[in-house]
Amino acid sequence: MKEYKNFINGKFVDSKSGRTFENRNPANWDEVIGIFPKSNAEDLNMAIEAAKKAYPRWRAIPLPKKAEIMRRAAEIMISKKEEAARLMTREMGKVIKETRGDYQEGIDTALYAAGQGRRYFGYSVPSELPNKICFTRRDPLGVWGLITPWNFPVAIPSWKIFPCILSGNTAIIKPATDTPASAGELVQVLYEAGLPEGVLNIIYGGGGEIGEAMLSHPDIVGISFTGSSDIGMRIGEVCGKTLKRCSLELGGKNGQVVLADANLDLALDGVLWGAFGTTGQRCTATSRLIIEEPIYNKFIEMLKARVEKLKLGNGLDETVDVGPLVNKGQRDTVAMYVDIGKKEGAKLLTGGEPYTEGECAKGWFYKPTVFIDVLPTMRIAQEEIFGPVLSVIKAKNFEEAIKILNGTTYGLSSSIYTNDLNKAQKAAELAETGIVYINAPTIGAECHLPFGGMKNTGNGHREGGWTAYEIFTEVKTVYIDYSGTLQKAQIDTWQE
Ligand code: NAD
Ligand code: MN
Repeated sequence: MKEYKNFINGKFVDSKSGRTFENRNPANWDEVIGIFPKSNAEDLNMAIEAAKKAYPRWRAIPLPKKAEIMRRAAEIMISKKEEAARLMTREMGKVIKETRGDYQEGIDTALYAAGQGRRYFGYSVPSELPNKICFTRRDPLGVWGLITPWNFPVAIPSWKIFPCILSGNTAIIKPATDTPASAGELVQVLYEAGLPEGVLNIIYGGGGEIGEAMLSHPDIVGISFTGSSDIGMRIGEVCGKTLKRCSLELGGKNGQVVLADANLDLALDGVLWGAFGTTGQRCTATSRLIIEEPIYNKFIEMLKARVEKLKLGNGLDETVDVGPLVNKGQRDTVAMYVDIGKKEGAKLLTGGEPYTEGECAKGWFYKPTVFIDVLPTMRIAQEEIFGPVLSVIKAKNFEEAIKILNGTTYGLSSSIYTNDLNKAQKAAELAETGIVYINAPTIGAECHLPFGGMKNTGNGHREGGWTAYEIFTEVKTVYIDYSGTLQKAQIDTWQE
């Protein structure tokens, strides 16, 4: 068991609070992975001072030079991948092949940042007046607060850290209390790669205390948040009071549509991975399956057989398909929604109870659960459960399937299985989601493409790829007049 400390201004420091919290393994709650400081506002202020002090010098370093640190970080991460994946599985429970994927996404994001340092493009645009040029550049803003959830303990911090600091900002990250160790190790990688002190600082502690203090702190210029929609709305509200920039990546209620002409075996593989990967605890998890009437009964039968074959257990075991929920609270939420589903009149096809065989009794396991004959208005078809629960809904035809797909307040990801090219294109056009998959499950984002959602899934920003860099920078428009005379836009007319 390791004792972690906050990392501020390039040094490990104790919290002023003197309080701590434990990080435990959800597959075996007896195992304590680390003890972490439960920080307070005083700790946060120290970190903000460090980040403020580091900012002018860091900002001035040429981008390709900053990018070299990102490349070295990627190299270190490559060498640590297996060790980091094992820590991540112990810390939050998802199976080892998925934590390797999570860490790989961090590596890919670091490498993207390394390349971005030499291709930090602006636009060059002609002027309506002669002897005048116009271009745009992007500049950093200052000290950022990065607030992250527990379900992607390295990928999500990476999506924020690399574009934020490559752009010349400095930052404080506050990871979720369920997965503080993975984020802490990632910060150390950046320092090992040569990051100057104070550019990135990590503070451990609760959202209500440290998170809240960040939102209203006048020296923090922006908040990049990933988490639930409820907390996201709170963050948007507080940031709005001082016009602090904030990017919000929030919840989902993602649907997979299967049309009658689809390759059903492919659609089945897709929904199993989409619904039960990461034990359903992905923002892009498939939590609704919308099946066209002619194949409804057949597909349900196929689904039941496969779901019941999924192997539950400790994610370090390579043969396990589904790990535990992250904590007791999350498993209680799943149990609560299963009760709600039954009371609403949905039919339980399989699952619907905790899984406590053998060693699994020590953790927060729950059987992969499928409800059929779910109506689109039921709470289990509307609210984010964030667990291994799939709601199956019947649709009369393509048009009704799209209507059901769009009939929630969320808009992160959607998927449609069909071999009809026209319907596939139409679905991409009509889906009210930031991400659309054709003949692939609702999960599987690649780090070099925009990631984010519509409606209550966010506030219009996109992480990933080039768009992440838009969040962390301000666009500046520069006009250079080399005519030597006063030229008035819109008023002077050009003459030959
Ligand atoms: P959460 O909203 O409970 O917490 C997220 C983070 O916010 C944590 O670090 C928490 O400590 C902090 N926080 C809590 N209250 C706060 C406050 N008042 N002020 C500031 N910070 C506060 O979410 P979670 O349970 O950790 O994660 C699951 C949620 O995240 C799901 O809703 C999921 O859909 C969403 N998510 C979204 C994406 C995306 O990119 N759209 C990705 C992953 C997860
Ligand atoms: Mn944990």
